[in-house]
Amino acid sequence: MSREMKPESLMMTHGYQPELSEGAVKCPVFQTSTFVFNTAEEGKAHFEVAYGLREKGADENLGLIYSRINNPNLEILENRLCLWDQAEECAVFESGMSAISTVLLEFLNRGDLLLYSSPTYGGTDHFIQHFLTKMGVNTLGFTPDQTKEEIIAMIENSGHSKRLALIYLETPANPTNSIVDIEMCREIADHFQSEDHPTYVAVDNTYMGPLWSHPLQLGADIVLYSATKYIGGHSDLIAGAVLGSAEVIGRVKTLRTFLGNMISPHTAWLLLRSLETLKVRMEQQAKNAQEVARFLAGHPKVEKVHYLGMLTPEDSNYQLYKRQYSSPGAMVSFDIHGGEREAFQFLNNLKLIKLAVSLGSTESLAQHPATMTHVGVDSDIKETLGVTEKLVRLSIGVEYHEDLIWDIQTALERTEIANADLNAAELECIS
Ligand SMILES: *Cc1c(COP(=O)(O)O)cnc(C)c1O
Repeated sequence: MSREMKPESLMMTHGYQPELSEGAVKCPVFQTSTFVFNTAEEGKAHFEVAYGLREKGADENLGLIYSRINNPNLEILENRLCLWDQAEECAVFESGMSAISTVLLEFLNRGDLLLYSSPTYGGTDHFIQHFLTKMGVNTLGFTPDQTKEEIIAMIENSGHSKRLALIYLETPANPTNSIVDIEMCREIADHFQSEDHPTYVAVDNTYMGPLWSHPLQLGADIVLYSATKYIGGHSDLIAGAVLGSAEVIGRVKTLRTFLGNMISPHTAWLLLRSLETLKVRMEQQAKNAQEVARFLAGHPKVEKVHYLGMLTPEDSNYQLYKRQYSSPGAMVSFDIHGGEREAFQFLNNLKLIKLAVSLGSTESLAQHPATMTHVGVDSDIKETLGVTEKLVRLSIGVEYHEDLIWDIQTALERTEIANADLNAAELECIS
């Protein structure tokens, strides 16, 4: 008898055999660089598989050789991450950026066209603008408000439509939570790809995964994570992951072997611990975020709240939001009445919520995108993206929601807003 169990039920045991580790209930840290072969013949057999000289036998385990190629902590972590996204295989990295740059390097050649959603994470954007272009890759950005027809026309006008090799997207976009349609990107890829030139679709799912969105089920070929964020969840490590088919991940792992940017056994072990509480953490964070967003929306010093949970059936994005996500998530941004001065006053008056970049952790964090995470973005692009001086970004943690709201309320009370920015009725509410 067997039962198909949910990922949260399997996070404590999947892929680990206690009898191979003295019966230890928990997987130990395999802090070792190299592994002993029982015989020379076994060493030869392991190398044949590792170097692709022959296929792995049906019941043959991937032999351990050297921790740059594989290690039990990496392997178990990869097996467990596969469960959330229902992926065939996974490769883990020493950072989200190393996962992203390795995928971009593997799937793009000189003369290829990369289509990517804008805004994208600052590090990704820099790698695309400054490194891929130097390698001779053609790049083309699109924004979440563009239609399928507009994007197709833009690709055709680029003169490189026959070489569209990769569509890379990040959704919801940071920090304004605008969303990109993954199924639409699959259709665009299918429109341009040919037998000789496949077009892959890659999604940075850091904001909503691995719990609330599953891009592989929506037609993506590759899912990427900064595991530093929700997957790690405690602001105590840097890591990344890539998931997809055995074919895709085989290519990614081969490049990882030669770049040497795999995760360390100790970081992988920390992530195994994090994964046990992933679902309870993320669910609590999303619940808290909904309470915080509701409070902010009703506060007179707040001009606008950017949160997926605020969308109503009248919004043009509502159907897409419901199709693509099972939760509004735990990232809340808002425009404060005023500008940088008011935003800074608010941030400087927070007590419980810490003033720091990054996201997805157990503790709540606040930051000012225009002068912090997005300071490198051109000012006209910032304006079209809505990254204005009055925008504040919050990553909501697992604290008691009333304590978070008290902190935000107190900080807002201490923020002096020029009267001109508020109408009389709003002022009455404050006093
Ligand atoms: C943080 C982040 C990254 C980069 O990940 P690191 O782990 O810091 O290298 C990439 N994409 C998104 C959406 C992120 O938030």
